[in-house]
Formats: sequence, C-alpha cells, structure tokens
Amino acid sequence: MKVFNVSFFKRSFISSLVILIFSINLSFAKEPFSSDIQGSSMVKEDKSTSEMFIVVIDPGHGGDNDGAVGPTGLKEKDITLKISEMLKEFIKERSGAKVILTREKDEFPSIDERTYVANNNESDIFISIHTDADFDPKKKGFALFYFDPDYRNINLRLLKKKDKGIILWDNVQLKFINKSRILAEAIKKSIDEQDFSENTWIKKAPISILKGARMPAIMITVGYISNPEEEMRLKDVVYLTRIAEAIYKGLEKYRERDKEDETPKG
Ligand SMILES: [Zn+2]
Repeated sequence: MKVFNVSFFKRSFISSLVILIFSINLSFAKEPFSSDIQGSSMVKEDKSTSEMFIVVIDPGHGGDNDGAVGPTGLKEKDITLKISEMLKEFIKERSGAKVILTREKDEFPSIDERTYVANNNESDIFISIHTDADFDPKKKGFALFYFDPDYRNINLRLLKKKDKGIILWDNVQLKFINKSRILAEAIKKSIDEQDFSENTWIKKAPISILKGARMPAIMITVGYISNPEEEMRLKDVVYLTRIAEAIYKGLEKYRERDKEDETPKG
C-alpha cells in the first residue's frame, strides 16, 4: 500500500479548497465577469426557436487552476479537457448537433464566462466535466450534480409575475431543475451500464456554475483523482473515450425522452 507524503496531503488539501471555491455557491459569489455582461445579466426567459440542437461542454478548471491533483501529479484540468474534446467528437459525428466548448486549451475562463457561453449561444444542454477528490485516498465513484438553490426564499411564481418574462441571471436555473435531474438520471444510467465504478451518485448542490444556466445543466465528476487506482485509470485514453461515449449515450437517451414528452399525444 502506498503511503502518501505530507506534500501530497498539502496539495490535496489545496486542491479540495480550490474545488470548494470553484464549485460551491458561496455567499460572496462573484458578479458576472465584466461590466459588459453585467449589463446583460438580465436574460430573456425563453429560448428563441432554433433548429440546431446545441450542447455546451465545460472542461473544468484550466490555466493556473489545475483543479485537483492526483497522487502522481495527474491534473484534473487536463482530464476534463480530454474528455470534453472526446465527447464533442461523439456528439458531432453521431448526432450532428452543434457542440461548443467553454475552453479549447489550457486557459481559465471565469465561472460567469463559462455560463455566458452556454446562455449566449442559446445552448440546449450544458454539461460541466470535473473529477472529484478527497482526503481519503480510498474514496471513489462518479457523481452527477444538478442545481439545488439552497435558499428557501425564492418564489418562482412571484419572480415571473414581477419581471414580466425576464428573470435574474442568478435564478434562471430554477425552472430547468426538473429537466436537469432527468438529464443526470439518463447519463447515470448509461454510466451504470459500464464497469467504471460501483458507485454513481446523483446529487443536488448549490453549484455556482449551474445556477445561471438557462437550460438543463449538470456537472459530472468522473471519479476521484485522489484515489491512486482511479488516477491510474484516468491516464488511460481508452478509458477516457469510454467515459465520453457513456456520457454521449446518456445524452441521446435524454433527447429521445425529451422529444417524446414534447410530442402531443393523440
Ligand atoms: Zn473540479
């Protein structure tokens, strides 16, 4: 059994902090990233009709922000970009949908910039890809997160009435929570059909990258990079391709179900 040295724990602790700060909707969460966008932080409630199905994929972290770092130094930011690129190819080749990545190289767009890419392109789906990490090196498994507002004082009905079709950026995910959950369930099912892990959870959390998304939106963590076994697997390109394919298949199942739901029944 490998015993980790102090620097790993230090690194792992810092990584966990980075994840926390990056992922959780802290009370001092930032405003939209520029005055330009702040001006448009009021967004239209309804998506205009567009024929093309659009998926925005967000490779977590990037640039100076490595995300979590595994025991042998594998960086979350590199894994998230690889899986996102593979997922993009699966979607483009097999379904013909348009796919946009929030970053295509080793750089760090802010959380608001990432959500802005999805909203501005009138994306139908937003998927943010991450790995998980924990102090406990044995911890493993996949998770699919959808947004939990974590505050009780929001009344959707009142918001709609008051703002006449325009709702605040901060609250836009609320009306997509049900579809986001269905999307998470479809992808979980597809992941469960593979032998990636005995644990795949669906979780609700106040994740700030999801809260401003004006479409069904989820965050997927593809294993614990802090677990030596899972880190080893994440270095394998074939394994990453299988993860990307499983996410793609789940997404297709969601689209089929969504189409059925929207077809009027005679
Ligand atoms: Zn992350």
